[in-house]
Amino acid sequence: MSILNFLFRKSELECPRCLGKGFVDWDDIRRLNKLLKWVPAPCAYCNGSGKTTKEMLEKVPVDITYLTIDLPESEIEKIKNGDPEILEKGKQKEIFLENLIKYVQDHYLDKNMAAEDIADLYLRTENENAEFSIERQNLILYIQRIIELKKSELN
Ligand SMILES: [Zn+2]
Repeated sequence: MSILNFLFRKSELECPRCLGKGFVDWDDIRRLNKLLKWVPAPCAYCNGSGKTTKEMLEKVPVDITYLTIDLPESEIEKIKNGDPEILEKGKQKEIFLENLIKYVQDHYLDKNMAAEDIADLYLRTENENAEFSIERQNLILYIQRIIELKKSELN
């Protein structure tokens, strides 16, 4: 270990999102209550290093849903800098997902509809000006996941 690394390590803390693994797995996803919002992937909070800083912890909530590794690097940087516009976009996306999850759960529970039928109904009623949209095939897969999770909760 060089002296510089030694100095640098002193300011580093274990990443609370991935618990230092550098990878967010299903245990982390459950712990942070992101079951229908994330899938396992390298950790975007610490960029896969497993370490973070006090400054980062103070600026960026560890469970901010929008911060995932599949975002463009420029957006990740903006989130880490606390850019209000991107934080608002992240909030809107989370609301979009929560509304979609609720829509699917209601249609599944009330009418026992199949994933494909729920997807088609949703796409017909979707607001054309909506900021976010999901392609039909991906939507069906996502709806299947929502239904599977609901089923496991009911059992
Ligand atoms: Zn991490």
